[in-house]
Amino acid sequence: MENFEAVKRNLEKRHFEVYLAKSSDDARTLALSLIPKGSSVTWGGTMTLHEIGLSDALKAEDYHVYDRDLVPPSEKQAFVEAHFFSDWFIMSANAITEDGELLNMDGRGNRVAALIYGPKNVLVIAGKNKLVKTFEDGVRRVREYAAPKNAQRFSIATPCKQCGECKDCLSPDSICAQFVRTRLSFPAGRIKVILVDEDLGY
Ligand code: SF4
Repeated sequence: MENFEAVKRNLEKRHFEVYLAKSSDDARTLALSLIPKGSSVTWGGTMTLHEIGLSDALKAEDYHVYDRDLVPPSEKQAFVEAHFFSDWFIMSANAITEDGELLNMDGRGNRVAALIYGPKNVLVIAGKNKLVKTFEDGVRRVREYAAPKNAQRFSIATPCKQCGECKDCLSPDSICAQFVRTRLSFPAGRIKVILVDEDLGY
């Protein structure tokens, strides 16, 4: 994307540590070089992590990997709680504004909770399809695109699952109970961002 450099500068102004990757392969190599061997690593719901082959690569190397995706639903909450304070938490973002803010929605909230506080390092890996011009564009992206696509993966009873559109519902199954706008990384550098010049995830 032509304005990658500008987005990088704007994220850096907000104290994120930012890296650019030309491809999924570059992003995977970069992530492995950033995470020290021996670290404990876990992640939130993210398609991007799997699409770039990072989950398998981490398991093949000397890391303590806690893969929530292998845990049965009845044990997931206890698993997430047990590994919440891992050294590294990996996720994507639902949108990143040109001005350098992150926007994320969540249902239960464990993913955005870890983004805000807990793990020593957060690594956000985002494809160019996540870049939006403004915060309002980001909210639109989440509601009109990311949430309905994501909803198809879960057995929930929300309007976006049923008809593929957001109806601004108050369903107890809502996958967007939380909307988190991350203005900056606090402490500085805790949140690392890899922007990948490919479309990844939703
Ligand atoms: S408000 Fe309801 S319908 Fe809209 S995206 Fe969220 S869960 Fe889906």
